[in-house]
Amino acid sequence: MVSENQSQALMPAYPWQATLWEQFVSLRDRGALPHAILLCAENGLGARKLARGMANYVLCSQPSHAQACGNCKACLLLKAGSHPDFKSLEPEEKSTQIRIDQIRELNAFLAQTAQQAAWKIVVLEPAQAMNVNAANALLKNLEEPAAQTLFILIAEHGNKVLPTIRSRCRQFQLPAPSRELALDWLSGQGVKGAETLVDYLGPYPLLALEWYQHDSLAERQAIQQDIEKLLGHQSTASAMSKRWSALEPPTLFSELLRWAESEIRRASLANASRKYVTFMFQFCDRLRQKCALLGSSANINAALLIDEAIFDLLGLARIRPKLGTSGVDRHDNID
Ligand SMILES: [Zn+2]
Repeated sequence: MVSENQSQALMPAYPWQATLWEQFVSLRDRGALPHAILLCAENGLGARKLARGMANYVLCSQPSHAQACGNCKACLLLKAGSHPDFKSLEPEEKSTQIRIDQIRELNAFLAQTAQQAAWKIVVLEPAQAMNVNAANALLKNLEEPAAQTLFILIAEHGNKVLPTIRSRCRQFQLPAPSRELALDWLSGQGVKGAETLVDYLGPYPLLALEWYQHDSLAERQAIQQDIEKLLGHQSTASAMSKRWSALEPPTLFSELLRWAESEIRRASLANASRKYVTFMFQFCDRLRQKCALLGSSANINAALLIDEAIFDLLGLARIRPKLGTSGVDRHDNID
């Protein structure tokens, strides 16, 4: 039994993590943990919480029943954010990159002897945010780690991580839940209209919950309808530029990208011309660059990015074939 005053939530935090959690616990309990884990999970599956739970389970001095105790010194220090043998690394504010200086600091931390427990644990997210220099600085520690060092690297896709890093990690894939499980969990969180969200987003429950809490779906659907209006010449470039300038740029561009990716799927299904598909791939690339730019600095001329995207869409309108029902139409009947 877990005591009532357990100070942290039970693991796994989400039902779709159960299999991976059991696998991890079994490795830990058998003393068979790899020294580096690459935890691959799409956004919206709670990978960060899972990684933290793994770290806690390893650091806890008296885990039982596949749970950290929540009460020992290690658990309390970790909860307070002051465990000396635990390090969490992510891009610093206003940056999308993990810098080489951060890795150097990490290396200094790894060179010290563990203070509390025997283990030292590093959670690094997202693994693809390390550029080549940062990755190279980490390699030596990944290659020849001190005993009882555990790296947990988080990435959306393994293939986005530099091969030199990936090849030194054991890859764990956190699967998305089934549609039924996603809906079941969302309904347990009091989310109304969960089916619409899951249809739109896919079975990524935490993302769906976030959209529900921020009432994002209507805004996103409106952007998708704007795109169709622009392509169908039911709206002008200047009107759209004005409308989109009022939106949060990251929201706008992530939704433009979502539209473009689904347009590629529709174009492929409809055997659209190579010219159109090529144009769409290039458009997607440009949108991804814009999303990255927006994430990297606050001093971006969003109006210029919006006008470039509108220019692309107008170019696309000239060569767009009829592709049948778009993803937007499916949701027109939803309030
Ligand atoms: Zn403990």
